[in-house]
Amino acid sequence: MKKLDPVFRSALDSAYAHSISHLEHLDDTSVAATVDAETLRSRIAQSLPDDGLPADKVIEELVRDVEGGLLGSAGGRFFGWVIGGALPAALAADWLTSAWQQNAALYATSPAAAIVEETVGEWLKDIFRLPAHASFAIVTGCQMAHVTCLAAARHALLSQRDWDVEGKGLYGAPPIRIISGDQRHASFERAVRLLGLGHANVVDLPVDDDGKLIPRSLAAELAKAPDAPAIVFLQAGDINTGAYDEFETLVPIAKQYGAWVHVDGAFGLWATASERRRHLVRGLELCDSWATDGHKWLNVPFDCGFAFVTNPDAHRASLSVRASYLTHANTARDQMDWNPEWSRRSRMFAAYAALRQLGRKGVEELVDRCSDHARSIVLRIGALEGAEVLWEPTINQGLVRFPDPSPSATDADHDRRTDAVIAEILKTGEAFFGGTTWRGKRAMRVSVCNWQTSDDDVDRVVAAARRAIAGAN
Ligand SMILES: *Cc1c(COP(=O)(O)O)cnc(C)c1O
Repeated sequence: MKKLDPVFRSALDSAYAHSISHLEHLDDTSVAATVDAETLRSRIAQSLPDDGLPADKVIEELVRDVEGGLLGSAGGRFFGWVIGGALPAALAADWLTSAWQQNAALYATSPAAAIVEETVGEWLKDIFRLPAHASFAIVTGCQMAHVTCLAAARHALLSQRDWDVEGKGLYGAPPIRIISGDQRHASFERAVRLLGLGHANVVDLPVDDDGKLIPRSLAAELAKAPDAPAIVFLQAGDINTGAYDEFETLVPIAKQYGAWVHVDGAFGLWATASERRRHLVRGLELCDSWATDGHKWLNVPFDCGFAFVTNPDAHRASLSVRASYLTHANTARDQMDWNPEWSRRSRMFAAYAALRQLGRKGVEELVDRCSDHARSIVLRIGALEGAEVLWEPTINQGLVRFPDPSPSATDADHDRRTDAVIAEILKTGEAFFGGTTWRGKRAMRVSVCNWQTSDDDVDRVVAAARRAIAGAN
């Protein structure tokens, strides 16, 4: 054994000590940032020096310079956007991933990474109750999972019409119709753009009061061009309300027209793991492709998302490449055949570690616990004087509003007051919530994805909201 150079070791020791310190101080540090962009720039944006620094000094200075500019998203009182934490085994495996420095492109570039990845894919299909023959990819997030799935969809729909889209592109191809509810996540649109399908070609159908696509509207839209290739985009978990489309009813309609059904289940797919919530996803297994995240509800470090495709041939045909210098395995899965990246982080180690730490029951328990916390945060804050519940969570997402108490208040005043209270909560440093506009009204969105959120955290954020309502103007 050759001992590490002392400066190398000291840099790692320093990173380790600061990581532990960051995690241990989450409870007594502001959840929101406390310095502005100008301050950060004054510390960070120096001109690139000609001469380098010792590694340990770089780490010490990095930690010093970002202070106040980090959010408390690793901890239990962060409810902004949809952001998970990192489970202990997942974080530790992520550190190892960096130390191991494996390129998870091929079996040949890291046999262990390839086999761990195969295993994670099989475990996830089992948790989500997807068809056993489905193929999968571990990508950077749900955004790239959409791209992966839609590349397969594009291939399948066009090859059925004798069109080689990988060869000829979309020039002269039969136009693909894309049909979606109008509350979809914007990442879908970007995937559509990247694949050359054009977001102006997405037909937005209005959703019902529960945020679900209306079966009648879908059938009517598909009937307008019954023979055209079509992609139907469904949601498992709306970002504001956690609403689910009714797969059981909608998918058979789409199938009558030979449409490809893709599901955005960035966080909502995880409800499948819960006995109490599984009814929300009835018929999910009938769809053609599914996109979800690891870095949200599974609580693995960024960047981690998962794509699943019911047609492995289309999936592989849309992405696989061959080059003379690559070495392809015939006894194992080459990841490059299934995802849009070339060289690639071995993010499957952290996902594997998370799943092993939790076990099947642990995943279920995490989903139920976060959902129960979301419900109690929304109901308890909503019950405060000066607040109201807009959407009571069925999973981990809900909405609260802070109406302006003045008798002559207009909708605009209620919106302004809601944003002011959110800003005031952030100022307390006790909790982090984001704002959103839902059905034309400003609202505070509550998203609980972090494994660390506890009953004490819930008490603390309700108390902070009470103070913020009193303090905001
Ligand atoms: C977060 C999210 C996405 C995008 O996922 P990334 O992991 O950020 O790429 C897509 N859809 C929904 C519903 C989301 O919540």
